[in-house]
Amino acid sequence: MELTNELVVMAPIQVKGSLSPGNIYDLTLIDFYAKTRQMQGFKVSVPIFWNVNGLPVLNMMQKQGLPLSRETRNEFVNKCIRDGLEILKKHYINFDEQIKDDEISPMISKFIETYSKSIILRGPISIAICEKCGSDFGTDAEIILCKICGGSVSMQVRDVLFQKVSRDDVSNKIGRINIYPTGAKKELITFNESMPEEYNICLTKRREYTISYAGFDLDPRFIVMLTPALVDGMYSRRVYFHGDIIKKFSYYSLCHLPDRFLPTDIVCHGVLLDKYGRKIRWQDIDEDLLNQFNNLPKNDLRAFLLKRNVSKDVLIDFETIHGNLREQDILRNRMDGILGYSDCLESSLPFLVLRKEFFEAVDRYFYGVAYDKMLKIVDLLENKTGESIHNEERKFLDQLRYLYFGEYHGIKN
Ligand SMILES: [Zn+2]
Repeated sequence: MELTNELVVMAPIQVKGSLSPGNIYDLTLIDFYAKTRQMQGFKVSVPIFWNVNGLPVLNMMQKQGLPLSRETRNEFVNKCIRDGLEILKKHYINFDEQIKDDEISPMISKFIETYSKSIILRGPISIAICEKCGSDFGTDAEIILCKICGGSVSMQVRDVLFQKVSRDDVSNKIGRINIYPTGAKKELITFNESMPEEYNICLTKRREYTISYAGFDLDPRFIVMLTPALVDGMYSRRVYFHGDIIKKFSYYSLCHLPDRFLPTDIVCHGVLLDKYGRKIRWQDIDEDLLNQFNNLPKNDLRAFLLKRNVSKDVLIDFETIHGNLREQDILRNRMDGILGYSDCLESSLPFLVLRKEFFEAVDRYFYGVAYDKMLKIVDLLENKTGESIHNEERKFLDQLRYLYFGEYHGIKN
């Protein structure tokens, strides 16, 4: 099988005291996707990005009564990351490398020098500035009140780094990317069309603890958009994974990223819904929710989090699947046909055990993940013949079980 390099990218994770169930949901889907691709023979890189820049960290420290020094900030951030990694381990989520956006200053400078210099301009433009505390908020003229002190904000001319964004250019980029589901693509197109034909994006922001370039403090948001592009390498696919907020991250990524770093695919996996079909807003729920998850068997939780079809516009919901036995029967029959194909296997006891196990795996799969993924796995199995089916399937079954239910080990190298 041809080996293809693929980069799986997620928006950087804002460090916090504890990762949220929302983080675990996102990461479980990414993990699932990456491992499935690996099983299909692709070489997949999954880096994790920690966003330690910007106000949220300072706000959290203030809330905990920590003094705001560079040292305590580093300590705080490192502890958040350590705790985060511990949680990921508990949930069997694997990734290849981690990048902290406060450690990438030389990389950012090199990146800008090499790829973005021609598109980044310097000069006086109008930006939104708080009259009371002096905080600045970029070129968005709609910001009237300061997000930091509540003072009134007005447009003032300042010397900054900025970039000219053209609607046609972004539209052109959108056209070259595969975006799932199609609704997300429409949403992105509509958003782009609502922007001016050409306008300036301010790339700088006066903030403490942010990365500087050419004497300017860079806007943490701009840094976040560039971060995934810093994982350089020859990738034939760059897949961006999002929850529901496809607009901002995708849109600004397309504005800031040079062509060779653009995603080839954007997958918007959507939000998790509660039993009334409403979006679960993790941040509104008790902060200890993730700890409550600790009482749940991890494999059950993974199955729950993987409930959604990640590549089509189909929402897989528990009740629907449970009631939809017909589809399940079709799949069973299909699996039966494949497994019963060889006479020598039919007569052997291990085969019957295997088949039983496989059906159990199929059942569990149906409570977990999407139908079309299973069909791809079926396709993969159909390419095997004769005696080798047995070992291959045995191996595959083991992997399937490890993969979907959190007992994953030994496939990735
Ligand atoms: Zn202010």
